Amino acid sequence: MNLVCLVCPNSCLLSVEREGGAVRVVNNGCSRGVEFAVKELNDPERTLTSTVKVLNGEFPLVSVRSDRPVKKGELISLIQYLDTLTAQAPISAGQVLLSGLGLNKVTVLATRAVAEMYPSILTTPENPASRSFGGKIY
Ligand code: SF4
Repeated sequence: MNLVCLVCPNSCLLSVEREGGAVRVVNNGCSRGVEFAVKELNDPERTLTSTVKVLNGEFPLVSVRSDRPVKKGELISLIQYLDTLTAQAPISAGQVLLSGLGLNKVTVLATRAVAEMYPSILTTPENPASRSFGGKIY
């Protein structure tokens, strides 16, 4: 079988065959291609990238990624699970949104900041700044 090595931008097209208990790899530009092919045949993993809905943010979604790869076989179900969640703005880049996800117990991090759409303001008669938000108070 053929596999594209995903380790570096060279994207070598690996030719991979099982030979008994071993794996034979050719067309690899370096030894990391062999490691990739063996891992891909036996226990493939991918970094999870997706988005999570944001409540009261300047954007309706925040991009996220896992801190470590997840099992490739559970990638879709984990993304579907993230689709059910909502994060509260403000969110900072690198903020941990979720921990212990999936079999690998990965951490899900925001990859960008999302500011609050309506910053919290304490309203008092002495604080007219609240009027600048059309009377909406959060
Ligand atoms: S085999 Fe080596 S050179 Fe080729 S894509 Fe993989 S890491 Fe890069």
